[in-house]
Amino acid sequence: MLIPGEITIGFYKIPTLFLASVLGVLYWVFVVWYEGRKDGFSSDSILDLAFSSVTLSAVSFYLYSLLYRNIKLYHPNSIVLSLDYELTVSLLCFLSSLIPVLYFSKRWKWSKYRVLDIYSMAFSLFIFLFYVARTLVLGDVNSLALSGLIFVFYLEILRFRGYRFSSGTIFSLFCFFLAFSGILVLKRDGYLLIYGILVIIGTVSIILRRNISVYKRNLPSEFIERIKGKLIKKDRSLKKSQQLLINEDPYLQTDRATGNSESMDEAILEDYQKNVNDANKNIVKGLRIQVRKALASIKIGKYGICERCGAPIDKARLKAYPEATTCIECAPDSDNSNE
Ligand SMILES: [Zn+2]
Repeated sequence: MLIPGEITIGFYKIPTLFLASVLGVLYWVFVVWYEGRKDGFSSDSILDLAFSSVTLSAVSFYLYSLLYRNIKLYHPNSIVLSLDYELTVSLLCFLSSLIPVLYFSKRWKWSKYRVLDIYSMAFSLFIFLFYVARTLVLGDVNSLALSGLIFVFYLEILRFRGYRFSSGTIFSLFCFFLAFSGILVLKRDGYLLIYGILVIIGTVSIILRRNISVYKRNLPSEFIERIKGKLIKKDRSLKKSQQLLINEDPYLQTDRATGNSESMDEAILEDYQKNVNDANKNIVKGLRIQVRKALASIKIGKYGICERCGAPIDKARLKAYPEATTCIECAPDSDNSNE
């Protein structure tokens, strides 16, 4: 035992593992928020989602503990008791946390697979932290092994996320990996049922996800040609804007009014104009990259298929916004203002 099983705060004695779980949950929320924002989800919404998941998990934790205690008192041979308490509670909390994802993704038109991937990363870190704490409190080798395994998994995911996995893959891998690690090092009562459920969830997710991505887009060739024309025209006009902005760059002007910086006000004004000019250059550059990406997707025959989730992109969206390479559900928030 490296750290005590209970920590005294004021008059209260709090089990260390409970404290570790609470800290873990806070960290979990942070990871969901951080990764979610990196993925283009709005900060407020992703936090709402994370807190709904935490609340629902806490409720199911409380209800199950209540049930478990009552059954223990009155029915010594019940089905519930034959399942390991810790494993069952963990599974229930995990499942409860997923319910808000399914609900809110539908409401906010988010890709649930992308959110599930983010959740998996946060769960990996939570499990890692919890089992490190458990190792320190109980000195148990299996906990150490589990935390090690899950940490390696997390590092691998981090390495390949974004460019090698389509959305939803991380979630399925997480379910499989957890079941696999559990069977290796955490064989508790009823483990086959608990890990079996994880494998089923991972498999169902893959099947549902594949049903979207096998969709072949058969857009009429006239439609594609028209889009291609629009995109090429747009690329040309963006190129012109780029050139114009370079010409207007106050620092590159030959007749600079403040060449000798004698007037402070004019120097400040010039800096301001320079900043605006730079910002506009970046915007135009970004737009041009997007147009180029759409043109490239036409070339490889993937135009009209969402690059994030593989779903077909709505034809109306393509008409209004021909450079779209994601469906509306996967579009970053800033994208929607262009329509
Ligand atoms: Zn999509």
